[in-house]
Amino acid sequence: MSAPTRQTTRFPLLSSPLRIGSTTIKNRIVSSGHDTGMSDGGAVTDQLVAYHRARAAGGVGLIVLQVSGIHETAQYTTHMLMATDDSAIAGYRRIAQAVRPYDCKVFGQVFHPGREIMESLDGSRPVTYSASNAINDRFHSVPAAMPRPLIREVVDGYADGAERMLKGGLDGAEIVASHGYLPAQFLNPRLNQRTDEYGGSYDNRIRFLREVVAEVRGRVGRDFVVGLRISGDEMSDDGLTVDETVQVCADLDSEGMLDYISVTAGTSSTLGGSVHIVPPMSQAVGYTAPLSGRVKEKVAIPVMVAGRINQPQDAETLLEQDLTDACAMTRALICDPEMPNKAEAGELDSIRACIGCNQACIGHHHTGHPISCIQRPETGRELVYDLPNPTLRRKSVMVVGGGPGGLKAATVAAQRGHDVTLYEAERRVGGQVLLAEQLPGRAEFGGAATNLIGEAERAGVKIVTRRRVDADLVRAENPDTVVLATGVVARQPEVEILDDPVILESSDVIAGAEVPAGRVVVADWRCDWTGLGVAQMLARRGRKVTLCVDGYMAGEMLQQYVRDEMIAAAHSAGVEVIPNVRVMGVDEDTVYLQHRLSSKPVMVDGVAATVFALGPLPEDGLAAELEPLSCDIVSIGDCVAPRTVEEAVLEGLKAAWVI
Ligand code: SF4
Repeated sequence: MSAPTRQTTRFPLLSSPLRIGSTTIKNRIVSSGHDTGMSDGGAVTDQLVAYHRARAAGGVGLIVLQVSGIHETAQYTTHMLMATDDSAIAGYRRIAQAVRPYDCKVFGQVFHPGREIMESLDGSRPVTYSASNAINDRFHSVPAAMPRPLIREVVDGYADGAERMLKGGLDGAEIVASHGYLPAQFLNPRLNQRTDEYGGSYDNRIRFLREVVAEVRGRVGRDFVVGLRISGDEMSDDGLTVDETVQVCADLDSEGMLDYISVTAGTSSTLGGSVHIVPPMSQAVGYTAPLSGRVKEKVAIPVMVAGRINQPQDAETLLEQDLTDACAMTRALICDPEMPNKAEAGELDSIRACIGCNQACIGHHHTGHPISCIQRPETGRELVYDLPNPTLRRKSVMVVGGGPGGLKAATVAAQRGHDVTLYEAERRVGGQVLLAEQLPGRAEFGGAATNLIGEAERAGVKIVTRRRVDADLVRAENPDTVVLATGVVARQPEVEILDDPVILESSDVIAGAEVPAGRVVVADWRCDWTGLGVAQMLARRGRKVTLCVDGYMAGEMLQQYVRDEMIAAAHSAGVEVIPNVRVMGVDEDTVYLQHRLSSKPVMVDGVAATVFALGPLPEDGLAAELEPLSCDIVSIGDCVAPRTVEEAVLEGLKAAWVI
């Protein structure tokens, strides 16, 4: 593999072209295959075309489309693309035509999940297939061993799918052997218990993947790119190891039928392993690059890597270290499709960095909705919000509250041409984000405030801090429109309190309030990052923490990978969790709980302090105060109903879009 050519840009390696098989990508920035939830009945939609067009326009060099199922047994969700008949061709063609004007290349992914079926199509549990009967821990399925005629059908299916991608005008096809999916289930000696020619020895276990690669290559010829995606390490007890993966990559490369290898990490099959499919902010930037580096040492074809590469400077560093030939920066592009163009132009301060929260991207996919971004709700809504929308009449707009919703509303209103002033009662703007960033492993969350503040300033919003808005100020300013984004106030819980126990609000603890030594109960109604984060924070400070959760599990409202990492960290710190309980009373040294399902009492004794994470109420007093005024008034975010940053920012966009 020849070294990339240096150019006179801020990121000479990242900006340089890369030859992959029969094609060349214009830079080393890749949007790797990721489910979008934007297909319909297995087919490409207008929404999906617009989503990819936006990223191509933003300067990405290569888009790898989300997985396309290649056999009827490959449908692992109800909202994925299918390549099982020729109707798929027209959809691929639409995407290819949409991105081509931007000199962006596009590959498809040919895919079979094996036993990793996430959803049922009709409510009944489907038969899943794998190399053999090894059970799946995450989805609790016992797969059927794939009969040999079905193996033949599936191998043909990969080639059929790739051929449809070729006919649709895509530039390549990527065979998905990553994340414990079907090819990996054959490769893995801990899972593959077959006794025929597809099991046992290494040569037998790699036979399935070899047949897939050969069949695909044979069908599409040499002028169409064929790549392989593989987990460099599945990071799970019985997952493929890096040594096993490197051997597979080296052997397949030596046979000369692949054009590139795309390295990722983790496996779908276990809770711990699946975290690495879309690693949360607690994982280090570029932590998977040593895996691609290992592969790169053994192969001659280009290697790319995915794994928390959010900024062009980080990608450039990995290229300089020769750990990869290209960087998959998928969430960075979900969060800011213009990132490649901004990097090229040296406009680094204006790049909206992904913070690895997982909430609206993979989080939406897991709930069956089109992906978006908490910081950029325009993503996934390109058909409406990526269009120019300048105002026809410049208005004076007063935004009350400098949290994420207020900042977004102010920015969009100013970008549309309005005269916008934002008022914040506190010393700093940023709202609840400023609290969230102080919890263990959540520091990057603060990036959301940094990004939103920068966008507001660049849009020309006047920001006034330490100024509480009342009706008199609104009368004096006489704006055309007031956007209320006043956030929340603490909720006084209906809990019986006897004697004089130490009771603290979670927000005060996060802000640094003293917590006495000894056992601490965290009473968590929210089931989000707050209870888990405070519990972990206090445990790390030496407190014996019992997290009492009013839900089935701690972090129930969080995206799975974020939740699972936080649960693991809390468990490692010694936090004890009691699920399905609500707090009824507190006295000097006891917390009285009630089990939500049995209604039986549960007590925790010897308690030195109780921390309430019971959720806030809307701060909506100003709305009533302003009712008699003649200006337009719109309320957004938590002051309507307390939810998360995602809803606040989305409502800020929607409100400002129609001012
Ligand atoms: Fe990144 Fe969070 Fe946006 Fe997903 S929702 S792209 S993780 S900032």
